[in-house]
Amino acid sequence: MATIFTKIAKGEIPSYKVAENEEYYAFLDINPLAPGHTLVIPKNVEDDYIFNLDGKTYAGLWEFARKVALALKAAVPCKRVGVAVLGMEVPHTHIHLVPLNSESDLDFRKEKLSLDGDRMKEIADSILSEYEKI
Ligand code: 5GP
Repeated sequence: MATIFTKIAKGEIPSYKVAENEEYYAFLDINPLAPGHTLVIPKNVEDDYIFNLDGKTYAGLWEFARKVALALKAAVPCKRVGVAVLGMEVPHTHIHLVPLNSESDLDFRKEKLSLDGDRMKEIADSILSEYEKI
């Protein structure tokens, strides 16, 4: 059965897209640690453990994530973009990109945010617009 993230990448489940190419997809985390918290996934490989990916998919995922992080930093003011790989909840490899202003912004134990749809769309569109300049 397809994972929820495969369904998102195919457009079968809605998401706030921030970047996409043939193999990879990036979208806003529905319950962000900080505004702009983004998830980056391979579209066609559902393995739930990033270090099981074949080398080409793995390298391509990080290169795509690098570009998304540059776009995210340009769109959402922050000191830097933090990276985390957990996979404790959704069994489809994904990289978290989180705008950081302090160390605690990457604390997954803290209460997550719930932003309204208009705000999520506004953030996603601004990241997408920066991504398209790269
Ligand atoms: P992890 O698997 O890395 O522990 O966490 C999965 C992340 O995916 C969580 O931060 C959670 O908020 C996010 N998430 C779970 N389901 C959905 C969904 O349907 N849409 C979006 N955009 N994010 C999701």
